[in-house]
Amino acid sequence: MTLNFTPSHDEPLSLTQAQEAISSCVENFLSVQMSPTQTVALEHAFGRVLAQEIISPIHVPAYTNSAMDGFAFQMPKALAPRGEVQRFKIVGVSFAGQPFTGTIGPQECIKIMTGAMVPNTLDTVAPLEAVETSKPASDGLSTGQASIGDFIDIDTSRFHLGANRRLRGEDIAKGDCVLPRGHRLHAASMGLIASLGFAQVQVKAKLRVAVFSTGNELLKPGEDLKESMIYDSNRFSLMGLLKRLDCEVLDWGIVPDQATALEHTLREAAQTCDVIITSGGVSDGDADFTHALMKKMGDVRFCKIAIRPGRPLAFGTLGKSLFFALPGNPVAVMVTFLSLVRPALFELMGLSDEHALENSSLRAQCEVDIVKKPGRTEFQRGVMQVNARGELWVSPSVQQGSGILSSMVQGNCLIVLAHDQEGVIAQEWVKVWPLEGLI
Ligand code: AMP
Ligand code: MG
Repeated sequence: MTLNFTPSHDEPLSLTQAQEAISSCVENFLSVQMSPTQTVALEHAFGRVLAQEIISPIHVPAYTNSAMDGFAFQMPKALAPRGEVQRFKIVGVSFAGQPFTGTIGPQECIKIMTGAMVPNTLDTVAPLEAVETSKPASDGLSTGQASIGDFIDIDTSRFHLGANRRLRGEDIAKGDCVLPRGHRLHAASMGLIASLGFAQVQVKAKLRVAVFSTGNELLKPGEDLKESMIYDSNRFSLMGLLKRLDCEVLDWGIVPDQATALEHTLREAAQTCDVIITSGGVSDGDADFTHALMKKMGDVRFCKIAIRPGRPLAFGTLGKSLFFALPGNPVAVMVTFLSLVRPALFELMGLSDEHALENSSLRAQCEVDIVKKPGRTEFQRGVMQVNARGELWVSPSVQQGSGILSSMVQGNCLIVLAHDQEGVIAQEWVKVWPLEGLI
């Protein structure tokens, strides 16, 4: 596979161009690379991506059952006038898991529990509280528990035929496709698969993603802080972002800005991982050094991207891996991951579009003016909240520097200002990406 190399002094790519370039690189990569699948027990499948369609082997519900605790009866053919009750004799009881199997004659009914099978000859359920019980032993009406042999009075005009009955197959019919390939299993889909009786599912193998940080100034958390050194935070942000995507994360630590060390780590990682993500060392100052190495080792494209924060980035293939070199600034790392790496990983994982960030973006009214020039996409950290009238408002009320990582904690969303967009005037609607669930 060959990428078109773009010299780093080229015009920056727009975010969309960069996403397209990365996407076509991923497509090429997938065309030569197998995307393995595996079968896992359902209890271990949460968060995994389906590699098969889930086709229902049964009707759900499997049998017509009652939606309420009450009495199942057959609606009389002739409509009764409103308020006029009809009397039925209780001839049996149907419990969930223990159906009534006797015969039921005219003007007879059964007592029935929620989820219990409704016999074929009955069509309607009246809830307990809607009937009056008449005990043959005592003359008058009783509020006590109705049992077999008792009579109940139902105002049948209050129910439509079929009321409070859940029909066989009304949720899912046998043969229906209930989940597509590429669906990421969540709590409801786990339950849904279980409800069809499947004990295991076929899922995509987890992506193995290696992460390391580059920089001579970096220390591991836990080490003594020295002058002109900083703690490596990017690796931890990236590992968190990747765990959100259920990737198998391989922590390759810190690599100094030194060609042999970098080359060694990259070679090792490229042999064992599907994806390598690094941070730092791709800005102009370092780019020549890293660039030369990448050119020698793989098929890597360096580009400047018209986004803020972000800008320099490299991507391509190294051996059997896809490679992303993200900028060093901590907010830029997270923003480039969310806007460029995440969609690529989704494509690699075979995730369907329903999971794309664009599909879960919101519109909020901006509390203040925002100054912006057209010609780049900006991701401002914002605080969004719903006011007393239920309207969503947002404000870029936190510090916006690309090194100010606390802004990603104080903010709860990214305000996404499009490439061609000019500034925002207070009360204008803006696009936001909620960070909840993403980071
Ligand atoms: P670079 O792209 O390597 O020039 O780095 C840009 C800025 O990000 C510099 O201030 C670096 O010190 C900082 N930086 C780079 N890597 C990390 C990291 N792993 N954790 C925190 N800050 C970093
Ligand atoms: Mg550096």
